[in-house]
Parts: sequence; C-alpha cells; structure tokens
Amino acid sequence: MLLLKHTKDLDNQYKRWGKAGLKIGFVPTMGALHSGHISLIKASKKQADMTVCSIFVNPTQFNDPTDFAKYPSTLSSDIELLEAASCDVLFLPSVAEIYPNGTVIKREINFGFMADTLEGEHRPGHFQGMAQVVERLLRIAKPDLLFMGLKDYQQQMIVGELITKKKLATKLIACPTERERDGLAKSSRNVRLDEKSRKIAIKLSKALKQAKQKVKLKTKSIADVQALISAQLSAHQDISLEYFAIRNAKTLAIPKSKREKLVALVAAKIGGVRLIDNMFL
Ligand code: AMP
Repeated sequence: MLLLKHTKDLDNQYKRWGKAGLKIGFVPTMGALHSGHISLIKASKKQADMTVCSIFVNPTQFNDPTDFAKYPSTLSSDIELLEAASCDVLFLPSVAEIYPNGTVIKREINFGFMADTLEGEHRPGHFQGMAQVVERLLRIAKPDLLFMGLKDYQQQMIVGELITKKKLATKLIACPTERERDGLAKSSRNVRLDEKSRKIAIKLSKALKQAKQKVKLKTKSIADVQALISAQLSAHQDISLEYFAIRNAKTLAIPKSKREKLVALVAAKIGGVRLIDNMFL
C-alpha cells in the first residue's frame, strides 16, 4: 500500500496509473479503524480497480472540543488492517493540506431539514464541517465510487445531497452497518466504553430491534412505538438519551403511515461516550 500525504502525490500516482482507464474507489475515514471501515474497503475492492482510503480527523466537524481531543488514534494498527485488506493507497493529509486557508466552517450549502434534525439538532455545525471536508477530499481523490456506511445515516444522506448539489462526478455507495456479535454497532468510540458501559451499550441496538418488531403490530402506531422505546431508554439511569426517532428513510420527515420506508435512529451518551445507531424497520 502506498502512503501519500500531499494532493500532488496523489495526482502523480493517478498519472502513473493512467487514471482515465481506472475506476477509483474512495473510503474517507477518521482512523481508529475497525471491521466496519474494512467492510467499506472490501466493497471498494470488489467494485473499483484501485482503492484509496483517507484518514483525517476533521477538526471542523467536532462541535465538542473534548470529543475531538479524545478521538482515538491508532495509525500503526490502521495501516496493518488496510494492508491486510489490500487497500492500494492510504491518503494521510495534514490539517494544512485540507484547510490551506484555516479551519473556518463554511456554511455554503443549505441542506435544510435533513441536516437540521436529529444529529443536526444535537451537534450544531457538525454536518457543515463534515460536508466541507468530504467535498475537499472528493476534489482531491476524484473517485468514481465513494463508499460510506449506513451507520452514519444522516451523514450519507447529506453527502448524497452534496454530490447532487455540487454536481460531483462520483457515485455514493452506502454500505450496511457492521455489528459486534451482541448487536452493538462497531464504532471507533467503542474502545472508550468501560466494562459496565459496554454492557449497557447493547440496549441501543436492542431498542432498534424492538422498534422493528413493534411497528409490525397493528395495535401500535408509529408514535406509540417511538414514545414507548424513548421512555424505556430514558428511564435507564446510565443512558443519557439524546433522541430515539422513527422517521421516513428517504426524507427523515415524521412518517404519516407504516407504508413508508422507515428508519429508527438513536443517539445516547453512555459512560461519557456518545454513540449513534439506526435500523431500517
Ligand atoms: P468514521 O471513521 O467514523 O468517520 O467512519 C468512516 C466511514 O466508516 C463512514 O462512512 C462510516 O459510516 C463508516 N462506518 C463507521 N462504522 C461503521 C460500521 N460499524 N459499519 C459500516 N460502516 C461503518
């Protein structure tokens, strides 16, 4: 695997490969890689000729400075995992490479409700910062295919919108969430859970599964299921629930009918660690 740090190194590599004839797959990450990230690399290896992964912990998408400071960094094991998955290029830019004019959040695109609700409400500025770095990375990596996880449900929706609005020549492929055996969604933040919090964290994916079962029951409305599960999670003394919501999977609007494609989304802090998860119902 090639390790490249500068835009011009990537450009030169593309020239060497003769990029015009090759399909480039791109997997942007913030490092602390786990099998969820590697599932994206594998999807890219299947569908593209060359796979580029980036590791960049983006300062502008952390609305909470302690979350940024505590974000895990495991570069040598990341490199081993990427090598084992036969990733072709690891792009490892500096902050100055990505933000030559300083790390100011640009609020160029109005993503509307999709970015204002749920995560948008709880992490103000997060999606603008995320969209800014993803656009920059897409302009550098120039991928034909972009692989992102459904784990960050709103994020992949907003990136889809970014691609459309900016007319970028890349196709977004949203990949399923990898989970631990007990159902906990894999996340770089899971390493920060202590033993007790790790056990409690299972309750998030259990709540999503419960929502899936209960929405199927004729006796319960979507609003009832949402209220019931929110109350259960809120009642747990070690779970600080930010939201549990059942929404239209295409628009994130509050659903009017069970015939709509639905997604349940949850965010909570457990033992000081903020976790998110979601599931199609
Ligand atoms: P991150 O490093 O957390 O920014 O994630 C980089 C990419 O990996 C994003 O597209 C995430 O949605 C995706 N990702 C994170 N966790 C998982 C998971 N458990 N399963 C699948 N994809 C994931």
